[in-house]
Amino acid sequence: ATPTALMVGVGRGGQLGILIKTQEALESSGKVDTVVFDKTGTITPGQLVVESFRVIGHADEAEVRRLAASVEAQSEHPLAKAIAADHGDDLLPVTDLEISPGRGAAGTVAGQRIVVGNERALGEGVDLSSAIPVLEAARDRGATPVLVTIDDRVAGVFVLTDSVRPSAPGAVGRLRAQGLKVVLLTGDHERAAAAVAHQAGIDTWIAEVLPADKAGEIARLQAEGHQVAMVGDGINDAAALATADLGLAMVSGTDVAMKSADIICVRENLGVVPDAISLSRATLRTIR
Ligand code: ADP
Ligand code: MG
Repeated sequence: ATPTALMVGVGRGGQLGILIKTQEALESSGKVDTVVFDKTGTITPGQLVVESFRVIGHADEAEVRRLAASVEAQSEHPLAKAIAADHGDDLLPVTDLEISPGRGAAGTVAGQRIVVGNERALGEGVDLSSAIPVLEAARDRGATPVLVTIDDRVAGVFVLTDSVRPSAPGAVGRLRAQGLKVVLLTGDHERAAAAVAHQAGIDTWIAEVLPADKAGEIARLQAEGHQVAMVGDGINDAAALATADLGLAMVSGTDVAMKSADIICVRENLGVVPDAISLSRATLRTIR
């Protein structure tokens, strides 16, 4: 009866928009006590939009935007794609390109060193003071600011927004009601993480985690005795999805994320996560 019940559960999952790869995955969903959500692309749809650009110093606005977009056009990051798409085709060639995960992108454009990213992407000596009010205001409402420097001088800040999925607060509330601890894990800044967590109804967040360290954060929760489910979408999340006791990937995510996951959420609705937990618990009850 055990394998039959699990097979039925996997089939029922399919009807609910939950693609369960193995029967073991269904079994472990019932034992999970902590659910960790990635931010961009998971709690938010990852459809970033350039909301504003603020030029800083004496630089020419159109020129700064063009230099920044030229560098970002070389990166696959969702922030980079949004900045490049916002600008259009009028790009300049880039040499010495450097992509730094969790930080930003840099390159030489028209003989100048252009860096686009967060504070971690910038050199040590860069004076940020004139940008700080813009950075803080953006982060306090959950938006993501992206700094641009030209030859180590701050020349502007883009502000990008990506609203929380409408399904997020409801899904988080149901997970809580199921007795689970819910955590937000992101490479973004502490303040942006706090604002998004608040909008989604999440009270625990781990921010400023470099892509390579996301799996380590999952392992740390496991070492504290938790059975952890990770929900993610990006290349950055693949190792964390594999490390977690249960990995759930959004169907809109990258191929790598979907390969590393045990469960694919076929619906673009975070309600599939509590659905998967209750389905699994119900299935385990039938078995016992
Ligand atoms: P998340 O965990 O939200 O998916 P990432 O780890 O991919 O975030 O990135 C973390 C942070 O690194 C971003 O919020 C941004 O500040 C910065 N960043 C990374 N790549 C870029 C880029 N190409 N352009 C601008 N900022 C970037
Ligand atoms: Mg993501």
